[in-house]
Amino acid sequence: PSVRAQLRSGVSVPSVAQCVEELVLNSLDAAATCIAVRIDLENFWIQVVDNGNGIPKDQLTIVGERYATSKCHTVTDLENLNFFGYRGEALASIAQVCAVLEIESRHKASTKVNNKVFRHGKVVSVFESKSHRPTCGTTVTAHNVFHNLPVRQKFVSVSLERERIRERVAAIALIHPSVSFTLRHENLGGKYLQTHKTNSLVSCFGSLFGAKKSLSLREASHQHKQFNISGYISREGHRNKDLQFLYINNRLILRTKVHKFLNLLLSKSTVVNRRAGQWEPRTPTVRDNTAADASSPGKQRDYYGMFVLNITCPLSEYD
Ligand code: ADP
Ligand code: MG
Repeated sequence: PSVRAQLRSGVSVPSVAQCVEELVLNSLDAAATCIAVRIDLENFWIQVVDNGNGIPKDQLTIVGERYATSKCHTVTDLENLNFFGYRGEALASIAQVCAVLEIESRHKASTKVNNKVFRHGKVVSVFESKSHRPTCGTTVTAHNVFHNLPVRQKFVSVSLERERIRERVAAIALIHPSVSFTLRHENLGGKYLQTHKTNSLVSCFGSLFGAKKSLSLREASHQHKQFNISGYISREGHRNKDLQFLYINNRLILRTKVHKFLNLLLSKSTVVNRRAGQWEPRTPTVRDNTAADASSPGKQRDYYGMFVLNITCPLSEYD
């Protein structure tokens, strides 16, 4: 089977939050250091502006056509991917589900600004515009997302989706402290989230969730033949499962059994040497016993503290 067939994965944009996430990951793939997300959920409108490398004119003509821009050409290329996107599918899928998708880009090797517009998934124009872009970068604007799926639009809870977008952008921003992020609600007229370029994950955590919380984070790392785990852990922030982030190769992993395992570990260990971030089992207390059977439903205590952990593993280790 072809590489395309092997990568086929069906619908890749089930929600507005997923669209936002895909656009942001594209900006990161383009080495952006400043990413602004603007949303107006009442109108199903989203926009991502970045200062990344931009798209060369000849590439723009094929961007948004399914698989046309895939970064892998043989199945073994999959092992050497350093990008979030590799299927060349996100923009095509987003173009399919929105009334109008506009891409405006200035490539780093050019002073020209090129545009591409899709209507209902079909390319309607590719042109050079007079838009002012002082530096390279790309703006992708999606108008009326899910216009062709009225049922999905109808059942989107605006406030819930807004929250989900904030969570996703925050989680991406957290693991990319050297990139500055803003999330702005156009209709509500305000900045919803903001991080500033820094080289410290802890201070990025501080600006996202409060400096006070970030103070209790301790560095933690573990090396294994096939993978490394590194990041920060805190036993404080009890019951705050919102502040538990697990990534594999910088990509956020949503709630899994691994989270549960980490919670159990956190509930059963204590920091021996705070500075060195060493952990050791401690004698169980009554509270721990409640934690031990947290897997049974009905029990409340199944999270213990905060963590931001990234598991890195070269894909080639999975032979
Ligand atoms: P993938 O990310 O899997 O390659 P996408 O559909 O998400 O597929 O994007 C298609 C292509 O469009 C990318 O490979 C990239 O070349 C280009 N592109 C998309 N967004 C951007 C961006 N913000 N900056 C630069 N290039 C972009
Ligand atoms: Mg992509």
